Amino acid sequence: MTVKLYAMTCGYLTGKLGYLMEGGEGEVRLPIPAYLIEHPKGTALFDTGMHPQCQHDPVARVGQRIMGLFRFDFSPGEEISARLEAMGRDPGRIDLIVTSHLHFDHVGGNALVPNATVVVQQREWAAGMDAELAALRGFDRKDFDLGHKVRQIKGEFDLFGDGSVTCLPTHGHTPGHQSLRVRLPSGDVVLAGDACYFCQTLRERRLPKNVHDRKQMHASLEKLAQLQAGGAKIFFGHDDVFWRDVPQAPMAIT
Ligand SMILES: [Zn+2]
Repeated sequence: MTVKLYAMTCGYLTGKLGYLMEGGEGEVRLPIPAYLIEHPKGTALFDTGMHPQCQHDPVARVGQRIMGLFRFDFSPGEEISARLEAMGRDPGRIDLIVTSHLHFDHVGGNALVPNATVVVQQREWAAGMDAELAALRGFDRKDFDLGHKVRQIKGEFDLFGDGSVTCLPTHGHTPGHQSLRVRLPSGDVVLAGDACYFCQTLRERRLPKNVHDRKQMHASLEKLAQLQAGGAKIFFGHDDVFWRDVPQAPMAIT
């Protein structure tokens, strides 16, 4: 069975590198990726980017704390629904949203994909529903508690039952972060999400300042490094230099 993978950029944020990678200096521009996967048995997104309110009134959407960390560069036409429509896909007919984790730049677009079932690690969803833990980790229920069907999974999960698209637990950044492995004819691609912001994160094992569990995050980076050593291509969560070479939809990643 053939799987197709498409990358979309749903805006940019700019933040301090020292916050995102220990020892970093200056500012860094962060692409906000979302991916479409088309399989003969269905369609899935891996993350949905930011909510369109971030285009005109980000402070009302994300609050002062996050406004203090990032500058927003996100325009109408860059939200997930517009990206899908631009390639002739109906956001209302997407079957699944695989959620890496519950931060605003990964689930903010769920509101625009109303009929999908959300596939999320059970421990991530539980953290999102726990008021105290959600506040601590910066999760906002209005991004993801929208009445979608939710399929809570535990650990590795084969999305279409043929090994072509597999959720891989990569906890640490948040309690139940997951990455996604996609088997393309050319080889495996691993969409790391925020288990690994930058190419440099993996190479030098320099973690962000604020993570849920440093030990788990190191173990997840080790797992990604092993996948990479085995020939998988790692797609980093927010690496602008890496991202410049990723073909954008409607061109498929081959
Ligand atoms: Zn992120």
